[in-house]
Amino acid sequence: MNARRIGAIGAAAALAFGLAACGGDDGGDAATGGDTAGKKLKIGIKFDQPGLGLKKGTEVTGFDIDMAKYVAKELGTAEGDIEWVQAPSPQRETLIKTGQVDMIFATYSITDKRKADVTFAGPYFVAGQDLLVRSDDTSITGADTLTGKKLCSVKGSTPAQKVKDKYPGVQLLEYSTYSECLPALTSKKVDALTTDDTILAGYAAQAEFKDKFKLVGKPFSEENYGVGLKKGDVELCNKVTEALKKAFTDGAWQKAIDDNLGPANYKPGPGNPPTPAACA
Ligand code: GLU
Repeated sequence: MNARRIGAIGAAAALAFGLAACGGDDGGDAATGGDTAGKKLKIGIKFDQPGLGLKKGTEVTGFDIDMAKYVAKELGTAEGDIEWVQAPSPQRETLIKTGQVDMIFATYSITDKRKADVTFAGPYFVAGQDLLVRSDDTSITGADTLTGKKLCSVKGSTPAQKVKDKYPGVQLLEYSTYSECLPALTSKKVDALTTDDTILAGYAAQAEFKDKFKLVGKPFSEENYGVGLKKGDVELCNKVTEALKKAFTDGAWQKAIDDNLGPANYKPGPGNPPTPAACA
């Protein structure tokens, strides 16, 4: 059976469930395994990463939001039945483990360490760790020029871990969110902000930072973004994977990139769009 056919059956099931739920059931909450159709979904996203996951008032925008909406729709959940939950980097595994979110779309790199707590669908995007520096800084030109520099990143993130493992000559300041690093970079408390190039490009393109900061533009890691799911929910993982594959072929993925990363002039690097791995 092809993916389109499975999608059609999913949609029919969603409709049937929706009608049955009119009797007073609110459609349930937690989405696990077999019966996601018509259910509410709590989706963990970033609130402070322009172009990826951003909340302004009640409005959420970004590449991760568009991908999450697409996948939810494929699972039979309407946009209005999504509850957006802030998922800062240090809290993602806990949010999944405790069931506070059903899935996470939050620039969330698939790693072996995280796989101990989380099942990942994907990857659905490949980014790379990079550096954001003040526009007048000519001393930082890549990862090999960081010795003696002060860097800002986020606790529990792969870029912070990489700095600790590979660049012992760097002084690392770790916050809970990347946006907290921006004033530190302005005030010269730190010399650079390090995280994925996607996130940095989003900040650099903001009107308030355009003349102040620049992206170094030499990625030095591979960050494979996955959808975080409850550990062991292979059934849901398979459905999410099918939805991601459909988004690659029907143009939705490309549109989500163009709409959200285009304004920052960000071009996806090699490896995009990636091939999602089999769920295990
Ligand atoms: N993709 C990296 C990670 O998952 C950095 C971005 C982030 O912290 O969200 O750790």
